[in-house]
Amino acid sequence: MKVIEGVTLRGMQAVPVEVEVEMTGGLFAITIVGLPDVAVRESRERVRAALRTLGLKLKGRVSVNLAPADLPKEGALLDLPIALCMLRSSGVFEPGERALYMGELALDGRLRRVRGAVPAAFLAREMGVPLYVPRENAEEVALVKGVTAFSAETLGELVSVLKGDSAPKPVQASELPEAPFVADPDFADVKGQAAARRAAEVAAAGHHNLLLVGSPGSGKTLIARALNGILPPLTDEELVETLLVRSTLGLPVEPGRRRPFRTVHFTASSVAVCGGGSDLRPGEVSLASRGVLFLDEFTEFRRDLTESLRAPLEDGQIVVSRAAGTVVYPSRVLLVLAANPCPCGFLGDPLEKCTCSSVEVDRYRRKLSGPILDRIDLQIAVPRLTSEELLSFSGGGESSAEIRSRVVRARELQQERWARFGYSCNAELPERLVRRHLTLSAESRSYLAGMADRLRLSGRGLSRVLKVARTIADLAGESDIQTPHLAEALMYRQGAGG
Ligand SMILES: [Zn+2]
Repeated sequence: MKVIEGVTLRGMQAVPVEVEVEMTGGLFAITIVGLPDVAVRESRERVRAALRTLGLKLKGRVSVNLAPADLPKEGALLDLPIALCMLRSSGVFEPGERALYMGELALDGRLRRVRGAVPAAFLAREMGVPLYVPRENAEEVALVKGVTAFSAETLGELVSVLKGDSAPKPVQASELPEAPFVADPDFADVKGQAAARRAAEVAAAGHHNLLLVGSPGSGKTLIARALNGILPPLTDEELVETLLVRSTLGLPVEPGRRRPFRTVHFTASSVAVCGGGSDLRPGEVSLASRGVLFLDEFTEFRRDLTESLRAPLEDGQIVVSRAAGTVVYPSRVLLVLAANPCPCGFLGDPLEKCTCSSVEVDRYRRKLSGPILDRIDLQIAVPRLTSEELLSFSGGGESSAEIRSRVVRARELQQERWARFGYSCNAELPERLVRRHLTLSAESRSYLAGMADRLRLSGRGLSRVLKVARTIADLAGESDIQTPHLAEALMYRQGAGG
């Protein structure tokens, strides 16, 4: 074969790139066709310096062609295949078997870690060809089952392999390193707050979105963070999705099957949160997918940012369309919002007096409604405790490990129930399946109908109540949704407002 194959990324997907080099006489110059200007300049310098470390001095006109031409490409990933193509055109080694190569070159010829090694491994597996990566990428590639991969530390090491002077170093398939389960913070450290603890348990069990409303110092943030420690471990499939996102962003593999927890500040841009931008990188929502996305001080968030979250929350994925095509990122997050009850923060507080006018409170309350809040299944008040109450909770509450074991059992029931439809938890269930599969006894049905009228619940609101009630029944190990399960679910619906 005349070409050397590399990869570039489109969203979270690796796409093959063919590299061809032509060398002719004349004045020295390197031109690369098919890369944006800045990337060309940088790649050219790195490749030239790295080749010099192997004693290869380029002469004459060197033109590099990258195909397909209309595909936007990232320079750094293509350093290695470009350098290899130049070496082969200079007769340093003979063409061998077909393979994919990726890596950024340091000026001294070392191969640097690149983003996208996991998507590249998927591509190599699909194409049925081996993948060559920098040594620093070996750990994540080892987690992709069924791929043949090799790693090298330097360009020189790889050239010696391609010349047949030494054997390639295979990337040994491995499992994700285990990590001891640590909840930090632990629910054992959360004093009181029985209702909020219970809401967090229900949220974790069914992957339901949660709103915590309380005064500053009430422990909303502590509860949100503790929620991460009671989530069930990632399944194999979910782990792969998490790996893909992290690898695409160049983030290292994390040990254990802990779910992601990402906090977004209200000053964040919508590209940082939802992804996209010129290089089509995934955003925080995708990094948080299968785990928690935490928005503290929710009422401070700009309208356009919360609006941009609406579709990802509803669809479980983000679709970015560009001239070059469409990319899709995952966004199956458990959204946790925290907010004060009023502008001054002390409405309903046992210790401090609220100084807001009723007009101010009304205006504030409107911020706590709208499209995002419609997608919140559980709303709960987190009242500040008086010092007397704080002192009376001397022994800690139930530990995160105990709560987590119930959550894991409830999630197993959901996986069994919904696997054939392609869903893993109650919150993911689309409305048509809710209507067909979450049925009620005559008594429960008339109870819910009465409550729905009183609370003026919409059709969507009703199916959310049903899904939460299903989770509560799963936590109790009950096969049918019963009236008490519905009553608890409705309580979370009425929310933190009262
Ligand atoms: Zn107030």
